[in-house]
Amino acid sequence: MNSAGNPPPQSNANGESTEWTVRRILDWTIDHLRKNGSESPRLDAEILLAHARGCQRIELYTRYDEVMTDQQRAIMRDLVRRRAKAEPVAYLVGHREFFSLSFEVNSDVLIPRPETETLVLEAIEIANELKAARILEIGTGSGCIAVSIAKQCPGATIVTVDVSEAATSVARRNAQKHGVADRIEFRQGSVFDPIGVDERFDMLVSNPPYVCSHEITELSADVRDHEPHLALDGGEDGLRYARTIIADGPAFLNPESVMLIEISPEQAGEVCECSQEVDDIDSCRALRDLSGTIRVMKLQIVGASPVVAVVPPVSESEKPTSHPD
Ligand code: GLN
Repeated sequence: MNSAGNPPPQSNANGESTEWTVRRILDWTIDHLRKNGSESPRLDAEILLAHARGCQRIELYTRYDEVMTDQQRAIMRDLVRRRAKAEPVAYLVGHREFFSLSFEVNSDVLIPRPETETLVLEAIEIANELKAARILEIGTGSGCIAVSIAKQCPGATIVTVDVSEAATSVARRNAQKHGVADRIEFRQGSVFDPIGVDERFDMLVSNPPYVCSHEITELSADVRDHEPHLALDGGEDGLRYARTIIADGPAFLNPESVMLIEISPEQAGEVCECSQEVDDIDSCRALRDLSGTIRVMKLQIVGASPVVAVVPPVSESEKPTSHPD
């Protein structure tokens, strides 16, 4: 025991510390996760370690020599064991950042992806021009799209639909967490089922499931084995939900409004073809992310048909009589 009452630091024959310091656990974890297929072992290890210690990731850098408690090590062991079986880090720590906001996630919802920010940016621009936009979101999942839009557009109100009750609960909690629950109404059901025939919106946004059924098995183990297939599987060609939205969406939209649908880049041509078959769709345009990859299709709804003044036929008796000069 030294004067502070601490046991002397343990070391091996080379004089190196053998105590489980932050640095040693981090190094061991990075190596272990790399060998077990993680594509970002350092980032994963740092996020998990910060979670096990209940601190910010940035704080680890000034705490490298601190010894982890038995309880922290037990938590870390469990997290690392699960990560080595490809469980996504976001599910292990229970949250993921999207559009600079932290969203609660669990295995009932798809983990928010950076590619979806392209859709959110466009939606925010349109909604803010409209001032009091009424927006419909199909397939909300964690609610990251609706909550991000509501946060940036104080005048917007949003109705979201999701078939999963569990996902709807997560989305509702995310709206509460970010203080926008009063402007988002969460409805549960399939695609347009929970929308009344008389309801009209100024914009429709959706990140529907768009992975082809036969390609699910080819996804990385993280996605394939842990994320909800319900939120990924878009049927034979991945466009099952996009098609329904394109065909039936215009009936719920005001003239000159837009639909923004996230897709996989190679689906752009097919989506344009589908939209050409719908009378109420004026144009179809692909939106790209900063790296030039197509992420979203923007479909413009036709304008209001011009009001044609109906001139009643003039009856014989009403005809102006011509007066000879
Ligand atoms: N981008 C996701 C993936 O490829 C799919 C998201 C979706 O189907 N909406 O894993």
